[in-house]
Amino acid sequence: MSEKLTFALAGNPNSGKTTMFNALTGARQHVGNYPGVTVAKKEGLLRVDGRDVRVVDLPGTYSLTPYSQEELAARNFLINEKPHAVIDVLDANTLERSLYLAVQFLELGAPLILALNMMDEVRRRRMTIDTAKLSELMGVPVVETIARDGEGKEALIREAVAYTEANRGKVEPLRLSYGRDIDAALDEMEPLVKGSGLLASLVPARWVALKFLEGDPDIIAMSQRDKALAAALTSIADRVAAHVRRTENTHPESIIADHRYGYIAALLREGVVRKDTTAENLRLSDRVDKVVTNAFLGPLIMLAVLYGMFQLTFAVGEIPMGWLEAFFGWLGGVAEASIPEGLFQSLVVSGVIDGVGGVLGFVPLILVMFLCLSFLEDLGYMARLAYILDRVFKLFGLHGSSVMPFIVSGGIPGGCAVPGVMAARTLRSAPERLATILTAPFMSCGAKVPVYILLIGAFFPEAAGNAMFALTLGAWAMALLVARLLRGTVIKGAATPFLMELPPYRIPTPRGVLIHTWERGWQYIKKAGTIILAISVLLWAAMTFPSLPDDQAADFEARRGTIQAEMDAAAQAGAAEEALAAFEGRLADLDNAQAEEALRNSLAGRVGTALEGLTSLAGYDWRTNIALVGGFAAKEVIVSTLGTAYSLGEVDPEETDSLSARLAADPAFGPWTAISLLVFTMLYAPCFVTVVAIAKESSWGWAVFSMIFNTALAFGAATLVYQVGTRL
Ligand code: GDP
Ligand code: MG
Repeated sequence: MSEKLTFALAGNPNSGKTTMFNALTGARQHVGNYPGVTVAKKEGLLRVDGRDVRVVDLPGTYSLTPYSQEELAARNFLINEKPHAVIDVLDANTLERSLYLAVQFLELGAPLILALNMMDEVRRRRMTIDTAKLSELMGVPVVETIARDGEGKEALIREAVAYTEANRGKVEPLRLSYGRDIDAALDEMEPLVKGSGLLASLVPARWVALKFLEGDPDIIAMSQRDKALAAALTSIADRVAAHVRRTENTHPESIIADHRYGYIAALLREGVVRKDTTAENLRLSDRVDKVVTNAFLGPLIMLAVLYGMFQLTFAVGEIPMGWLEAFFGWLGGVAEASIPEGLFQSLVVSGVIDGVGGVLGFVPLILVMFLCLSFLEDLGYMARLAYILDRVFKLFGLHGSSVMPFIVSGGIPGGCAVPGVMAARTLRSAPERLATILTAPFMSCGAKVPVYILLIGAFFPEAAGNAMFALTLGAWAMALLVARLLRGTVIKGAATPFLMELPPYRIPTPRGVLIHTWERGWQYIKKAGTIILAISVLLWAAMTFPSLPDDQAADFEARRGTIQAEMDAAAQAGAAEEALAAFEGRLADLDNAQAEEALRNSLAGRVGTALEGLTSLAGYDWRTNIALVGGFAAKEVIVSTLGTAYSLGEVDPEETDSLSARLAADPAFGPWTAISLLVFTMLYAPCFVTVVAIAKESSWGWAVFSMIFNTALAFGAATLVYQVGTRL
């Protein structure tokens, strides 16, 4: 028997699956520190005692009732591909919580192996885990590992091979009792599922019934292939749900979860975990946390960390950013000189170089910011923030678990609202989750950062770090206020308690931090080179066509001819240098006027102009309007579009000025316009991808709500700022 074996690495997010995968297969993988990083399925091959073993790194999941595409992918892999063994990598520091998933694997009848990972930390905390006992109680092999050092990986894989050979694919699913009501329903449903044959070859019939009671949408949808069965199961499930609501005021799901935890608690009570709790063993981590999470010092430290991060970012990033700006200026000049004048030159110079170049120019600053973010994340500081902020969040109708989605979305600038919105899944209460999803997009995601940097650089260069600090705090304040507003009106519901174990600090490795920084940075660059490029070209076209009507163009041509003739005449008459220069100036002014007229006449120009009546209240002219409309697609587009608009709107062959310089020089664009625009960018509709994510995590109704509500709020706030500011 030398058939190739497939082992799946499964487990909660952050338990060390990818690290173990790398240790086993030697491949470089992403090592992340917030839930939901592992998205794609990763595979690797290794040889064990002359046998080929395929190892698959599954996305992290908390439960086998999937809430997301990733969790669904992980479950489908287990069900459809039936790996020979499921290696559940769990954080042994949080054994009780981690075993929740393990119990579900057993219910599914998966051939399970437990890798108790992070044993280094367990040992440092002077805790011992009786693995033999745990193995005996659960009936599965248990191996202690330290994935980061590769410790235990050989034992783990050997156990898996041996276990596979011993059970030969036959594992009895664990039959837990979930209390009288649920058990009775399961007994009634199980034969129905078996009789229908639906799914019966893939998963235990009782498991299908259990998923029905848990309200698993995917399994319910699948059962629709047998209409009679689906109807029978649904009616039983509905009956049980109604019954437990009436008698215990709860849902079958919660009862089932409670019994799983009860089972785990009973196991652990058998003396599996022992802790040496003498005072001298108070870990360093705990001692540090006494200060870092102190009610008074904690928030101060948090502010200091953020403040320091921005000062560092601007101090370090400014210089290479200047180089890049100069480079793109030079590149535009070269393109202008080497491509013949015409549409193609305009596309390359104004559409691509001034558009995308603007977004890419910020790469150095953004990399420094990502570096700080990755460091804090790898260190474990984010979890502390959640802990500190829980008290504050409750006041605003949110939950301690809302902090992480905020941070992931860019609470510490540089995040992204898409994983942020998805991270809100850890919230169990629907109103709190919804309020989190709707407010997380206010945070300073990596796409808003270049907009902020652009405007700050143009108007407040001396106070760049402070301005970024203010924007960051402003985003948090707005998110909290809006959450309070929503929770008091459209999403009412009681608050739920927050329980959290603080994971120990981990000293980040330079390599890990650099890889994470680069991965984030590369994503930014890739997005600029693909999506932003495509949108830039589209917007360039919208800003170029339709071109100026012939008669208007001819009119400009005629005026140019007149000036040219006057100039020639003056030259013949031996006019002074200054007089001739004045003619040159008039010609340049005329060129600029024509370019501006052409831009105004274009499709985008007309839209921008049409909106001016309204947006002038907030201080925006038609050019800014074009940029903001483009920003609905992705926020970086605001920068690229302004770049293109200001590039198309003026004709000066020596122009190598950066966009910030152009903005600062525009008389229609003052500091209060910039502040108003910063406020608007912070608050207005989430980008398109985020809107889709919101729809997936809640409903299209709420997604549309967030677009309309946020834009109205943004416009109101920006108008207020502008009107008050310009009157001061
Ligand atoms: P995944 O989400 O399950 O793939 O988890 P990762 O492999 O990304 O690991 C999460 C974090 O835990 C990383 O910072 C790892 O370096 C760290 N880590 C993984 N295994 C161990 C271990 O055995 N001991 C310690 N101290 N840290 C570990
Ligand atoms: Mg991973």
